[in-house]
Order: sequence, then C-alpha cells, then structure tokens
Amino acid sequence: MGKLIDKYNRRVDYLRISVTDRCNLRCVYCLPGCGIDNKSHDDLLTFEEIVRIAGIAAQMGINKVRLTGGEPLVRKNLAVLVKMVAEIEGIDEISMTTNGILLKDYAHQLKRAGLKRVNVSLDTLRGDRFKDVTRFGELRDAMEGIEAALDAGLHPVKINVLLLAGVNDDEITDFLRLTIDRPLHVRFLEFMPITGNEFWSEKRFLSCKEAMDICNRFGRVESANVSGNGPARNFRIENASGTFGFIAALTDKFCSACNRLRLTSDGHLKGCLHSDLKVNLRDPLRNGADEGILKHLIRLVVDTKPREHSLTGDFVEASEYLMSQIGG
Ligand code: SAM
Repeated sequence: MGKLIDKYNRRVDYLRISVTDRCNLRCVYCLPGCGIDNKSHDDLLTFEEIVRIAGIAAQMGINKVRLTGGEPLVRKNLAVLVKMVAEIEGIDEISMTTNGILLKDYAHQLKRAGLKRVNVSLDTLRGDRFKDVTRFGELRDAMEGIEAALDAGLHPVKINVLLLAGVNDDEITDFLRLTIDRPLHVRFLEFMPITGNEFWSEKRFLSCKEAMDICNRFGRVESANVSGNGPARNFRIENASGTFGFIAALTDKFCSACNRLRLTSDGHLKGCLHSDLKVNLRDPLRNGADEGILKHLIRLVVDTKPREHSLTGDFVEASEYLMSQIGG
C-alpha cells in the first residue's frame, strides 16, 4: 500500500464517503424546511462505484473510511456496502456518522458487516426541542439508536453536539451527565457558516472555549484519550465512564493535521469541506477510465488540498454544495 502525502507534508489516509444527499430530518441549521432538490438515483455512485474508488484510494494510502450523508441509513442495504468496503485490502477501519434515527433497526447488522464505530449527531436531550431543531424528529428514536449502538458493540459511540447559542447552550451540562455512567463520548462542535445556511448568525455561534468554561464549572476535568481520526481535544469528568471533547473548526483551526478526503454522493472528490476545488471521478469511471487515470485524478485532489480552510466567522459562499450534499 502506498502513502499519500500532500504538499504541506500531511499524510492523507482517511476518506469520508457521502452515500446519499437525502436525509430523514431537516435540521434547521443544515437544510431548508422544504428540503433540497435531491440528486437523481442515476447521479449517485452505485455501491460498486464507491468500492472501486475506495479500493484504488486504499492502494494509494487510504486506510480509514467513514460513511456519511445526507443520512447514510436512508440508503437501502447500507450494510451490504459496509461489508464490501470492509473487504477492501488496506481498509482497517469503517465508521459512520448518523442522526441515529434508524440505528436501532440496523446497528447489529452493521456491526456484523464490519462497521467499527459510530458518531451520532444529537443536539438536544429534550423532546420538544429535538422536534424544533430537526423540524419533526423524535428524540426517542435517536436515544434508542444510541442504545442499540452500545448494545451491538460499536465502539466508541460518540455523540456530536453542535453548539448553538440560545438553542442548546443550557444543555451542555446535561450532555456531560450522560458521560458519567455510560461509555459515551460527547463532542461539542462549533457552528460553521456553510453555503445556503439561513440559520447561521454570529449570535448563534458559541465557541468551544465558552463551552469548556461551562464544563470546568461542572466538575473536576482531566485530559482523556479517545480513539478516532478527528481533530477533537478530549477530556473526562473525573471518574466518568465516558468523555467529552471539542472540535473547534473556527476558533482553533486544525487544518495542519487534516488527513481527509471527501467523496460526495455524486462522485466528486474534495480535499477540503470548504473549498470549491473538486474532481469528478464518477464520469471518468463510467466512461471506462482505467486505474491509472483514476489514481491520477485522486492524486490531483491531494496535490491541490488547501493548506487551510478560509472560514472566519463571516458568512462566505464556501461551496456550491450544502453540508448534507458533501457529507458532514
Ligand atoms: N445525517 C448524518 C448526521 O446527522 O450525522 C450525517 C450528515 S450531517 C450533515 C453531519 C454533521 O454535520 C452533523 O453532526 C451536523 O451537526 C453537522 N453540521 C451540519 N451543518 C453544520 C454547520 N453549519 N456547522 C457545523 N456542523 C454542521
């Protein structure tokens, strides 16, 4: 297996694959209430196409894959894809990011297929608020999904909480409580100004530093290690079973350690969530491109991977894709 090193000397070994742009929720900060024009079925990569790209990327040095979306679990037979990716030589770890709504139906099946771990996005622990934030979701479904993930032995189970001032900043300590007795790993994320995001405003932004101050007042905090590929800084409330951490995309740029590529559901490869630079792999693939051409195109994305993202906190037209289309 090769090694992919970009021009800033970062090792690129992690591929995030969006398997669909469809979602079964409409989170107010992510999607318009009316939804978006979803890609047609033909636009989406088939499982075989995803596996072909992941297989070539694995030969080049990718060894970790994350499935995301849209909501990955709305794609039919996802466990089949997990199994196909797990069988690729060189892929050591498959993980998934999900809203958890369908996880109770699939957690065991996914685990058997080769899924190692899961991140569940959950921004509130209050049923009425969950309905407001997701526009119609049921908190109970997400919580049952988390239980099913633990029960199936997916490990670690991480809970991604988007920090939204005035929406869930009064629940930070409730999320910490969740980590005391359960092996759950809560990570607080900073809100990013992404294309088409009508909900974004500076007033809704809460920094990880502000959240950490709240955590420090909650109890004795110590550093912790959690396995994963992400940029989180992790901590634990003394003697807690689980941990909490922070992903400070805006206030503490972690681009110098960025190891990832992103494959959109319609087969474009991107080196950065916030950059418009992308390479269409789907069309060459469908037109019979051989392995050498596809490797060349993947290399092109690695070579043009930006040094860092350009988000500052001001809204910028960062990309023609919505978060749900690139795969958050
Ligand atoms: N449906 C899956 C889920 O809910 O985890 C995967 C896709 S969702 C787009 C992935 C993550 O992106 C979620 O954790 C969500 O909170 C996050 N996200 C969406 N919009 C965001 C934004 N503007 N800033 C930061 N994170 C965002």
